[in-house]
Amino acid sequence: MLTISPEKKELNMSCALCHKKKAVRVFRPFCSKRCKDVDLGNWFTGHYVIQGDAEHEKQKD
Ligand SMILES: [Zn+2]
Repeated sequence: MLTISPEKKELNMSCALCHKKKAVRVFRPFCSKRCKDVDLGNWFTGHYVIQGDAEHEKQKD
């Protein structure tokens, strides 16, 4: 189909992950499902959480 669905409309902001493409409404603030999944994966693998825990452990010592 040639029509672009409203959900695929680009927003006036860059993708929060790759910063290379415009974010789209349906995956906001990301440009694609891939970028959204990568960001979610970072959370699930403790990419962000580990840093917080490390700070917490230091304070206990
Ligand atoms: Zn992206």
